[in-house]
Amino acid sequence: MKIIHRILITISVCTILLLFAATAGAQDSKQKAFAWIDENSGDLIKISDAVWEFAEIALEETRSAALLADTLEQLGFDVERGVAGLPTAFTARWGEGSPVIGILGEYDALPSLSQAAGVTEKRPLIEGAPGHGCGHNLFGVASLAAAVSVKEVMEEQGIGGTIIYYGCPAEETVVGKTVMAKEGLFDELDAAVSWHPGSQNAVSLNSSLALNSFKASFRGQTAHAAGDPWNGRSALDAVELMNYGVNMMREHVKPTTRIHYVILAGGHAPNVVPDFAQSWYYVRALDREEVELYYQRVLKIAEAAAMATRTELEIELITGVHNMLVNKAIAEANYKNLELVGAPDFTDEEQEFARELQRFFGSEEEGLSEELEPFQEEPYLGGGSTDVAEVSWICPLAQVNTVCTPDGVAWHNWAVVSCSGHSIGHKGMLAAAKVLAASTLDLLTDVELLQKAKEEFEKATEGKEYKSPLDGVD
Ligand SMILES: [Zn+2]
Repeated sequence: MKIIHRILITISVCTILLLFAATAGAQDSKQKAFAWIDENSGDLIKISDAVWEFAEIALEETRSAALLADTLEQLGFDVERGVAGLPTAFTARWGEGSPVIGILGEYDALPSLSQAAGVTEKRPLIEGAPGHGCGHNLFGVASLAAAVSVKEVMEEQGIGGTIIYYGCPAEETVVGKTVMAKEGLFDELDAAVSWHPGSQNAVSLNSSLALNSFKASFRGQTAHAAGDPWNGRSALDAVELMNYGVNMMREHVKPTTRIHYVILAGGHAPNVVPDFAQSWYYVRALDREEVELYYQRVLKIAEAAAMATRTELEIELITGVHNMLVNKAIAEANYKNLELVGAPDFTDEEQEFARELQRFFGSEEEGLSEELEPFQEEPYLGGGSTDVAEVSWICPLAQVNTVCTPDGVAWHNWAVVSCSGHSIGHKGMLAAAKVLAASTLDLLTDVELLQKAKEEFEKATEGKEYKSPLDGVD
């Protein structure tokens, strides 16, 4: 009995020691990754500023994608360009065997947001040119820094597994990852991590809305609007009738549903009955099933509008996305790593800069947050949509936010462009890189964490095989 007892004590002591060694080892690898990021911060900032200057919009990110892909290639990654038929999409892979962990990167800018960096007033560099109003220059580079620092640690410490950096174009048009997912590019992943610049240091279980983006084109016949209007069939009437019908429908959808449109074409002159008119619609809802339901209803309204105006209707589904499925196990790991990294520190000048921006927007002049928000257990269901959600239905995934702008400042706005090319954005980027690196190391080395993440994912997606919103669309 005594011997068995002693053996048991020895085993448990050994287990504790092993666990301690494993934890210490994990901490050591994380510190090594952080050191790599600190040592290379100057170069990382240069790359981020270069992408900021290129400011290329969705599917035109030629120089941005090339710079990121070239850098990864030079640092030993196996790069494949133009994946999924998208010239500015790429993958960069390092390592061998499982687990296979994905790190998502984005780099597209927004139209008409050209802006000087580090100034607190609207000052376009080139009037009407694009700018990084969502901080994707920081996004792409933090993810790159995470991938490379993890690779360095894996190499040095003989950690097994594969990491893949995904160069994802066209997030702003919600296209890139949807197409990449349809082509099966994320299928081999065991898990993935991502982030987004923000005004808080935060990890949450927030979802995002599922979406269908489509154009409705109507074709009729021109006529003299006063001379022989009876010969005309107005495509603009059809667009107006469709919008009217959809606006009537609004009262009879769930409060979480969002439908918005713009008119892209509506004729050329009042005295010519328009023979072509076109609108662009977004239908958003809590999940794919709801989006499909409302999308079908909007299509019926479009058909009715065409019938009433004797015009011909053509629908073009541009893209679609799922709602975000956040993996709690990975989110918790992200939060622990955010605590380990800590909030970025800002100088008095940076705080003053932030307060000036807040003054401009009429927001509370509280400066930049240097704190971590509490882990947000209660998910917020709503807001915008993101194509990161596509990956979240293929493998377990969670994200983190770090402070890259002050709170109370409008996004997709010149102010974010100004911060994204400034030391404030750089600091948030480097903090995010460290959190992503640490979580990637956790997923590579902590078998229990990966198992927990996978079990949670299996449960959440049970009976729901991933189906691309673009299934059946060429
Ligand atoms: Zn964004």
